[in-house]
Amino acid sequence: MKLSRYKVNPDQKTLKVRVCGLPLSVNDSALMELLDELHVKPTSKIIYEKIRHQVTKRMTSVLNGTRFFYMDPLADGKHLPRNCNCAGLRVRIYHNGQPKMDRNFLCTNCWKTDHTKNFCKNDKCCKVCKQEGHVPGDESCPAYEQQKSLTPFSGTADVLSNFYPCDMDMYGITHKSAEHAFQYTKSVRCGNLEAANKIKEAPDALSAKRIGDKIKSNDQWIQTESQVMEEIIENKCVQVPPFKEKLRSAKRGTVYVETSYSDKWGSGLDRAGTLNTKQDQWPGKNMLGSIIAKVAKKVRKRKKSEQWSKAKNKQTAKETSRQRDISQMLRQLRVNSDSDSVSGYHATDSDSSDPETTSSRGAVPERKVD
Ligand SMILES: [Zn+2]
Ligand SMILES: [Zn+2]
Repeated sequence: MKLSRYKVNPDQKTLKVRVCGLPLSVNDSALMELLDELHVKPTSKIIYEKIRHQVTKRMTSVLNGTRFFYMDPLADGKHLPRNCNCAGLRVRIYHNGQPKMDRNFLCTNCWKTDHTKNFCKNDKCCKVCKQEGHVPGDESCPAYEQQKSLTPFSGTADVLSNFYPCDMDMYGITHKSAEHAFQYTKSVRCGNLEAANKIKEAPDALSAKRIGDKIKSNDQWIQTESQVMEEIIENKCVQVPPFKEKLRSAKRGTVYVETSYSDKWGSGLDRAGTLNTKQDQWPGKNMLGSIIAKVAKKVRKRKKSEQWSKAKNKQTAKETSRQRDISQMLRQLRVNSDSDSVSGYHATDSDSSDPETTSSRGAVPERKVD
């Protein structure tokens, strides 16, 4: 009976839309602003849901803030987003025809993908082998193996970590850490300037990350984020000397790995799990570690070429003076033409100084520092 009052035309079907998560204290004008943004025009007034009595299951007269309205059906394939922001609060919108779930489930207790941890009835499982009774890195895990040549990093105290506090100029703004720079770029590229400003002001990297994590990624961002990360790490290398020094002094062939639960940027495991699990069994892709390794390689190359040119300059200067001495000496001592022996000496020495000596010279200080 009541419903028909909200229908524009009895023949036309209407779509019921529920908005959950708003407290009663938020009035409808805030909701209307959100609906405007979504280009939604309700064909009814906004109606408040009442709470059902827990025992009698009868409708009470108590309102709980959840409200609904009717609108014309959306075009085929179109739907309203499930998660929205209204008056600074996260609200959920429900209507018929919306895709079932915006996200995939992953239980962080048993690692099955059809429920979340809160609804898990299984025993805790290992994230690596999905078996019960041990944690990753345990000797009883089939993927257990002590890893050598790892440079693990994590946390604000570790210069290799993006959480390490350091001033970094990027895209015309001074950021408080590499994480700030990354999350700021994400928010700008995903069109959320309000979040960008909050990230800029965030007191620490974790707060910046938390704001950034809430921003919905667009396709363009998903395609370019690793490139952005690489640019940021390269800039950190130029602007943050302790970071550069760390990369310079690392052993060649070391595997950098962020020991974090991030399955994209880190190993997906804690420190002990990472150090004692075969690398190809790490649940995470360790993208940050790979990017740091790539930048470290560039730094070492640069260092080698710097050293090479320095060494070459030194060598040339030395040679010139030695050559001068020798030619003077020869001129004094020899009566016959000495040009052959001088050029002969010169050629041999510069040959040996170039390819092999320089590369081993480049490597020695690195090992020493380590
Ligand atoms: Zn579970
Ligand atoms: Zn296991």
